[in-house]
This record gives sequence, C-alpha cells and structure tokens, in this order.
Amino acid sequence: MIADNFKNIKQRIRLAAERAGRNPNDIRLVAVSKEHSATVVSEGIRAGSDIFGENKVQDAKDKIKALGHDGIEWHFIGHLQKNKIKFIFDLFDLVHSVDSLVLAEAINEKAEDLGFCMPILLQVNVSGESSKFGVDPKNVTEVIRKIMSFKGLNVRGLMTIPPYDPNPEKSRPYYACLRELRDTCLKLDIPRLSLDELSMGMSNDYEVAVEEGSTLVRVGTALFGERLLKSKDATG
Ligand SMILES: *Cc1c(COP(=O)(O)O)cnc(C)c1O
Repeated sequence: MIADNFKNIKQRIRLAAERAGRNPNDIRLVAVSKEHSATVVSEGIRAGSDIFGENKVQDAKDKIKALGHDGIEWHFIGHLQKNKIKFIFDLFDLVHSVDSLVLAEAINEKAEDLGFCMPILLQVNVSGESSKFGVDPKNVTEVIRKIMSFKGLNVRGLMTIPPYDPNPEKSRPYYACLRELRDTCLKLDIPRLSLDELSMGMSNDYEVAVEEGSTLVRVGTALFGERLLKSKDATG
C-alpha cells in the first residue's frame, strides 16, 4: 500500500516537473511520518523513501533511535520550541521551519556553542494568516541578511504552508509568491547566499507546488494514509 502510494506520488511529481520544463531529479519527496510509528516508517524505507519529516522533537527522537541515520535523512518541519533546540543538531539534517529571527538567533547561539553549522530553511508566512508561523514576507530580505552573518546557520532556502483548501489551484499564488521572494533575495547579491531549496507542497497540492518550483515536497497523508491524531501546527 505505502509502496504503491510512493510510486504513484513519484510518478506524479515527475509528470508535474515535465509539464513545467523542470528536471524531476531536482525535486525530493519528504515523507511526513509525524504521528506514525517506527514500523510505518520502516515500510516507507522499504518502499524507497529516504527523507522523513517530523514535527515533534520527542517523537522524532524515539523513531531516530530505532531507525538511525543510515541512508536516510530526517527533517524537522514543526514549530520548534526554544527548550528543544539543543536536541536538533544530532537528530536532523535540515530544519524547514525556522519561523522567526528570534528562533534563528537562538539556534545560532546553541550551534556556535556546540561547533555546528545547522542547515535551515526560513519559513515565510506568505498568506499572512495570524494562525500561521513564519516571517512576514516584507521582512524576509532583512532577516536573511542578518542570518547570513550567523556562523552557526546555513540558510538553504525558503518554506511556506498555504491556507488549507481542497482545490490545489488555490495554493498556486502562494507558491509562486515564495518563488518570487527567493528570486528577489538572490538579486540582492548577498555574498555566499544561494537559496537552492523551496520547501512547498503537501498531499493535496504537491503537483502545483512542483510546477511553481518546489524542490522539497512534504507529503504525509497521500503516502501513509490518514493520521489518527489530526493536529495542524503541533508544536514540538
Ligand atoms: C503534516 C504536515 C505536512 C504533511 O501534510 P499532509 O497533508 O498529510 O501531506 C506537511 N508539512 C507540514 C509542515 C506538516 O506539518
């Protein structure tokens, strides 16, 4: 079942990439395994998944302890609480959800203490919904300039979560906006800034996201089925 879903999603990503004249190999599938057991994740690994997305540090810790890092990457996609920062360096290969300058500063401070340089994405609140975490689009260039001076962070790109809508076309303007924001940042010619990654697209709209330039789609339900516990922006 998971193997079939995986093949189907990969195929649809390939077709969406081709429609947009993109190389399908430039898009990676993050299998969002939050609220699923290590056993389910193992099934994902057997199906060919090599990147897993978690949104709670403690849950991720347990799964990573059971399954390790060999041949797989673990990405953090949830709202990160300050008291959990110290755990992320050993656990995660990429944090998608750095959603404020204050959080970036806190991660940087810890990273510098420990001698790490943490790969991160800056989460942008493109829709401006008050319920959503993320940097205000108008502050993004300024925040990126500041982050570029942090030795403990390596900003690899941008991430966003659009308002939920069953019609995937409703997500398109938000994804196009994030891509344009990335292009604007790159035009500033900030030394060493590349922003190669755009983390956008979920189960209901990942094809639209790929058409708009996504390099990391975060797919949970379409791959693993419905989660028992529905939590939207769980903190961890
Ligand atoms: C849960 C979650 C996803 C996956 O959502 P699905 O609709 O199940 O694909 C993607 N991104 C983030 C940030 C999430 O919290």
